Amino acid sequence: MKIICLLGATGSIGDSTLDIIARHPDLYKLHSVSGHKNWQKMLDIINRFKPSVVVMSNEQSAIALLKQTIPEDTQILSGDEALIQIAEESTTDTVVAAIVGSAGLKSSYAAVCAGKRVLLANKESLVVSGQLFMSAVKKYGATLLPVDSEHNAIFQSLPHNYDHSNIAQGVQKIVLTASGGPFLKFTKQQLKDVTPAQAVAHPNWSMGQKISVDSASLMNKGLELIEACWLFDLTVDEVQVVVHPQSIIHSMVSYSDGSVISQMGNPDMRTPIAYALSYPQRTTSGVKALDFFQIKDLTFEQPDEDRFECLTLAKASFAQGGIMPAVLNAANEEAVAAFLDEKIGFLDIAKVVKQTMQQTKFQDAVSIDQLMDVDYQARQVALEIIKGF
Ligand code: NAD
Ligand code: MG
Repeated sequence: MKIICLLGATGSIGDSTLDIIARHPDLYKLHSVSGHKNWQKMLDIINRFKPSVVVMSNEQSAIALLKQTIPEDTQILSGDEALIQIAEESTTDTVVAAIVGSAGLKSSYAAVCAGKRVLLANKESLVVSGQLFMSAVKKYGATLLPVDSEHNAIFQSLPHNYDHSNIAQGVQKIVLTASGGPFLKFTKQQLKDVTPAQAVAHPNWSMGQKISVDSASLMNKGLELIEACWLFDLTVDEVQVVVHPQSIIHSMVSYSDGSVISQMGNPDMRTPIAYALSYPQRTTSGVKALDFFQIKDLTFEQPDEDRFECLTLAKASFAQGGIMPAVLNAANEEAVAAFLDEKIGFLDIAKVVKQTMQQTKFQDAVSIDQLMDVDYQARQVALEIIKGF
């Protein structure tokens, strides 16, 4: 029986994770959960799963939740310290890190430092603090299992006991697939006027708002490229981004003998979540088997970095290293929020990110606290730039 802490339970990954947990009451027990503002959804989760500890990181929402009828043995906490507390407490063995954005960094990191089995959906943790994060995984003996569908696919396609320095394993290249998002065929002129509603309507995946916009701008693929480099100890040149609009192949590993091994499946996050939860075994996930006669075509194309500049910016931040990926991420989070608020246009997202990076002086990344400070400062710079649009 795995005892689980689910951070970000009220989100899209939270939904999919709860679905898997509900299917296997003999395998999983939900001990603690977190949400931010949506206390109504949290109330529903409490009634369905009876977790022992609930954190609402937003205090007003915790107060609203406390006014409802809550089971006597459910403890309600609030604030960011409480998030860290449930991420590291000894009752649980597994932490699903599914908060969106750099807001999820400290709790994911705390789970790693407590030596947990950490199922990482919060890719921003690795983008912001990759080196420190991966060092902590080693130092504290944590088990890091990728939930992001591409990284989960790569994890499934790599050799058992993968070690990048072992050339006998023959791993040559990772092929990171991208759907291309809803604007794959849009011209730059058309991209100027797209609306938030169009941007969040992903053709294949149902996801939270922020990652949906990131998918539309290809920033998501840029963040994932950085995520892949840290997770699998790769250089940027060893990762090739390939647009595959059907989202059936979730990524591939290319070997020295010409073999290419991929993981396929319907685009449903319950597959990678089920795999990460039960690894190294497998369980049912509720996802339908692939119907090859219905798919018919699997196609591939080059990403267009002229129209989707965010991918280039993400690579550049990683090449610069130090605090720059944290700056890229913070500026992007503010730019996406401003776009969703209709304060800036879609193409302005890349401009805000680029200008924020240009206005930031390079520093080495030395601690999580420093990176959280960099995150805060970069947001202030980005907000000033946004005001100018
Ligand atoms: P979402 O917006 O649906 O949910 C986000 C969760 O984070 C919610 O539970 C929310 O309460 C919580 N949250 C938001 N702001 C917070 C804050 N300031 N402090 C604490 N908690 C906060 O997002 P999602 O789509 O579920 O994505 C979650 C993470 O998983 C992201 O990092 C995303 O990139 C990654 N991911 C998502 C998918 C997907 O299919 N949705 C796929 C791959 C990776
Ligand atoms: Mg992904």
